[in-house]
Amino acid sequence: MNSTPVEPIQVVVVGAGYAGLLAANRLLGSLSDAETRRVRLTVINPTDQFVERIRFHELAAGTRQSALVPLDTVLHPAADVLVGRVEVIDPDTRTVQVSRPGRSEISVHWDHLVYAVGSKASAAIPGSRENGFLLGDLDGAQAAADAIRRSGDGARIVVIGGGFTGVEAAGEIAEQHPRSSVVLMCDGALVPTMRPAARRSLTKGLRKLGVEIHERAAVTWIEPGKVVLSNGQVEKADVCVVATSFTAPDLARTSGLAVSADGRLRVDAELRGLDTPRIVGAGDAIVVSDPLGDHLRMGCAVALPLGGKAAETVLAQIRGEEVKPLSIGFQAQCISLGRKRGYIQIVHADDSPRRLHLGGRLGARVKESVCKMSVAIPAKERVKPGAYPTPKGPKQKIRS
Ligand SMILES: Cc1cc2nc3c(=O)[nH]c(=O)nc-3n(C[C@H](O)[C@H](O)[C@H](O)COP(=O)(O)OP(=O)(O)OC[C@H]3O[C@@H](n4cnc5c(N)ncnc54)[C@H](O)[C@@H]3O)c2cc1C
Repeated sequence: MNSTPVEPIQVVVVGAGYAGLLAANRLLGSLSDAETRRVRLTVINPTDQFVERIRFHELAAGTRQSALVPLDTVLHPAADVLVGRVEVIDPDTRTVQVSRPGRSEISVHWDHLVYAVGSKASAAIPGSRENGFLLGDLDGAQAAADAIRRSGDGARIVVIGGGFTGVEAAGEIAEQHPRSSVVLMCDGALVPTMRPAARRSLTKGLRKLGVEIHERAAVTWIEPGKVVLSNGQVEKADVCVVATSFTAPDLARTSGLAVSADGRLRVDAELRGLDTPRIVGAGDAIVVSDPLGDHLRMGCAVALPLGGKAAETVLAQIRGEEVKPLSIGFQAQCISLGRKRGYIQIVHADDSPRRLHLGGRLGARVKESVCKMSVAIPAKERVKPGAYPTPKGPKQKIRS
């Protein structure tokens, strides 16, 4: 019998964060036996570790010593891991250039590419990198932990940023270092997107932990040992932890792909690159250029379902099936205040708050289990694709 050899299909997943891990596992876990013989999947990531970014405030506070999970314990065994950094994506030749630590650069071919390079801390405040510690980056969080430990009793630790990350960092550091004085500074109000009742509760919780809150205190400059505010006031800061916004890596922009003003890959409602449909995006590094994705924000809670959706889009492309538009909604905003308190705001699918919330110890327990599940469920997708339950998008936005 004459059988025509079938061409192998190479899928490359760039980035093994929450989105990339879930995408790789759902894709490989969903293949039929025939597809398994044909599809090769390579994950390209700067290290062979999965980095739990949502634990960085715990790392900085010294609550935990590591936020790393060996990739081979959570990634599908059929995935090849290439340790390196993608420097450029070429959609015409369908290759990526990969730099590797201590080795020569190589070119890797792809038929389908998942773009999941995430985000990094924004260093928009001058002096952030030189005189502060960027909480959104692994090295920044680790270095903050060392600096806080060295600063000793009575040190003044300033956390900049009044969003969820700043609140979690200030609470965690204050709980772990009760002899330091922790000051939270934000340019506007504390967590302004939350309901007044939620904001009052978080303010109270932080104060109970001893955090001094300075609202409408815009830091414009970070110098060694101090921060300068927009009104010229100078505040002592033995350690300065920067927990402001995140920014996307430059890879899509420098590769000439369609990007938003802030450098995120622009994708359609099926997560395909606007002018490069075989590049499928997920996580913090993308923006959905369709009303179906208007409500989505950077966050692990979005990166995970986007990773799952990216896998489904690539699978549909491989199978020659119709690709379905996304439908992703929210359920809750989960904030920890140290290890003993938490605040869980139940939200509508569009992320707007409902009147329901959980607080105190129960809130802390729920938040901890959400953190655990954010690794355990993507790992489970190796054997149970679809294990991550994606909440449906807002009703008015569901398109068939
Ligand atoms: C302290 C803290 C607390 C947080 N808490 C929450 C929370 O409670 N809830 C929530 O929803 N979100 C939270 N977040 C945000 C959350 O961590 C991010 O939104 C999430 O990590 C995004 O996932 P991702 O997969 O898109 O990217 P990432 O997790 O950033 O992963 C991207 C991966 O791509 C790799 N990469 C980057 N560039 C390249 C390249 N050129 N080549 C190859 N690989 C590359 C990176 O090294 C990384 O491994 C928190 C963040 C911080 C810092």
